Amino acid sequence: MADAKILEGRHAVVTGGGRGIGAAIAEELAALGADLTLISRDRAVLEDRRAALAAKVKISIETADVSDADAVAAAFKTAENRLGPVHILINNAGAARSAPFEKLDLAHWNAMLAVNLTGSYLCCRAVVPGMKHAGWGRIVNVASTAGLIGYRYIAAYAAAKHGVIGLTRALALELAQTGVTVNAVCPGYTDTDMVKSAVDNIAAKTGRSAAEARAELARANPQGRLIAPEEVAQTVAWLCLPASAAITGQAIPIAGGEVMS
Ligand code: NAD
Repeated sequence: MADAKILEGRHAVVTGGGRGIGAAIAEELAALGADLTLISRDRAVLEDRRAALAAKVKISIETADVSDADAVAAAFKTAENRLGPVHILINNAGAARSAPFEKLDLAHWNAMLAVNLTGSYLCCRAVVPGMKHAGWGRIVNVASTAGLIGYRYIAAYAAAKHGVIGLTRALALELAQTGVTVNAVCPGYTDTDMVKSAVDNIAAKTGRSAAEARAELARANPQGRLIAPEEVAQTVAWLCLPASAAITGQAIPIAGGEVMS
């Protein structure tokens, strides 16, 4: 796909980089030589990731809630003090809660927008001036197929992820002549803790077995399977390559054909 270490000398920040899709993205960027800052809420998980990757690249970890403006600003300041200006931002931190619309209260709505949408905005805000100054940057937002189409029972999550794609497209145009690209990837159901929670939830609410609930989610994908986190990570890494400079403002489904534009 690319020369080994083609991202050497680049500093990449991955939010929610402790597990799941974010951990796979961190692995992939490290394999290409990028130094890493991982931001998440769970210190212990971040420590594990640091131990796993420290032999390959420089790595720093920061504990922050991406929806907390002050915490995000402080985390990026420390990250830049440790590893220099940020060249690559992967807005991956996210959370998915479900409820039928009439049970979707304001706290649920606000929580989904805060982590999935406002968090992405806050992290973009922290890096855009530096990327413009450097004349090079890559921002990849991990949205979802729920940013492109609707699904039952996740109105707040889908609204937030549609918002992430709006942010991606608008910012891509604004930065089009600066050397900074902004794209989104849109995974379908991907084999992480998030899908495990969805499976447990479906099983608890419907009385189906976990295996049946998992098979139902897999059937949403025309390939009849869950996406692997590494598949998402490889697309994200490809968008970060120097050769991907002309790709901006895109929302790329990684979903086995579930969504076609
Ligand atoms: P996950 O639950 O395993 O990981 C989510 C990560 O985000 C965790 O590291 C968690 O600590 C972090 N996080 C959550 N809230 C945070 C906050 N407020 N501040 C900082 N960090 C926070 O789930 P995942 O499947 O790896 O999800 C990663 C991204 O992919 C999310 O944005 C999710 O919406 C998106 N996505 C997942 C799927 C799927 O089926 N798993 C499908 C489409 C999109």
